[in-house]
Amino acid sequence: MGPPGAGKGTQARFIADHFGIPAISTGDIFRANVSEGTPLGVEAKRYMDAGEYVPDEITNRMVRNRIDEPDAAHGFLLDGYPRTVAQVEELDGMINFTGHQLDAVLCLVVDKDEVVKRLLQRAQTEGRADDTEDVIRRRQEVYLEQTSPLIEVYKERGLLVEVDGLGDVDEVTKRIFDALDVVPES
Ligand code: ADP
Repeated sequence: MGPPGAGKGTQARFIADHFGIPAISTGDIFRANVSEGTPLGVEAKRYMDAGEYVPDEITNRMVRNRIDEPDAAHGFLLDGYPRTVAQVEELDGMINFTGHQLDAVLCLVVDKDEVVKRLLQRAQTEGRADDTEDVIRRRQEVYLEQTSPLIEVYKERGLLVEVDGLGDVDEVTKRIFDALDVVPES
């Protein structure tokens, strides 16, 4: 977890590689569908371009299908899901059904000005459609309203691991591995 621009996607790949599990990014799956022009992509694009969340029903169905894939049978890392209280409940149901359990909920803690700065930079290099200033601002608001309450939910469950997301990518990775108590491969 963490606000847009916290570095979730970057760090997700390192963690997933370490554990030999897939990193499942709802944002990436949506973007792939958008560029392929699938019906899911067409529907999702309307929300994404405005910085709003794609409706739970669509997102939940997509995640359910993805974690049903064989490569997720022995575990997976979710990046960008769950993002709403309803998605938390849905995920509980899904993993109950597949016999998995949540090991940890990692939250990257970052300063608001810093993430906006990073996203504006990314806008110049990657040109993501939702990285314009207005949309960036809206995405931060939506995160605060709909997703930040989840931090408390997972804290109460004893699953929350908070890590400072400021600094170099390598430094943050090291902090994450330390916090998760794993030894990174060199
Ligand atoms: P970021 O966290 O940097 O905003 P993501 O790539 O994770 O970007 O997500 C991009 C967009 O995809 C979100 O703004 C939202 O519209 C949609 N999205 C991703 N995950 C979810 C989710 N779990 N629920 C609803 N919408 C989502």
